[in-house]
Amino acid sequence: MSLPQRLIEGYEAFRSGRLAAEQGRYRDLAERGQSPEIMVIGCCDSRVSPEVIFDAKPGELFVVRNVANLVPPYAPDDAYHGVSAALEFAVGALRVKHIVVLGHARCGGIRAFAEGSAPLSPSDFIGKWMSLVAPAAEKLGPRGEVSLDDYLARLEQASIANTLDNLLTFPRLRRLIERGRVTVHGAYFAVATGELSVLDPQSGRFLPATIGALRA
Ligand SMILES: [Zn+2]
Repeated sequence: MSLPQRLIEGYEAFRSGRLAAEQGRYRDLAERGQSPEIMVIGCCDSRVSPEVIFDAKPGELFVVRNVANLVPPYAPDDAYHGVSAALEFAVGALRVKHIVVLGHARCGGIRAFAEGSAPLSPSDFIGKWMSLVAPAAEKLGPRGEVSLDDYLARLEQASIANTLDNLLTFPRLRRLIERGRVTVHGAYFAVATGELSVLDPQSGRFLPATIGALRA
């Protein structure tokens, strides 16, 4: 069984291009281990790859991706918690300094929630997963006269803010944030234009991420 041809070709391009150029870096990372300072929580969406958007090199970003870039609230029970496990590793073992929740325009998960899409099957996981968006939708209020596109963009952004709130329910992470050891950020990628905006904690609004602001 061979990999899809697209992957074979892509790997060949990687091997002769990026790997050749960065072999030293890979060897070094293999020996010393990874020590990324930034964790990104992104969406599975194939158009929103954090490594591409932030032009990241191997070892720079610790990334967890799931449908609609969500983090469930802290719940130390017997269930399997993939996002919480990644978060625990990022904060406890890697000691990342920044956690970025990266949302995006035209998010299929958010749209499914907003349209109250029927579950795909009786064992639908998406329906339950997307219920994590409910508090953001509640805070946002009813759609009213707003166009569906505008409402979805607002809900995508409100959900990022709600995910940042959920991060604070993790006791260890909350302590680190309060001590200034970890900073959390909300960011939003407009797929069509490629524009990135960043949540301004003071105003609660997403503002264009100008180069100056990013460096500040
Ligand atoms: Zn998405």
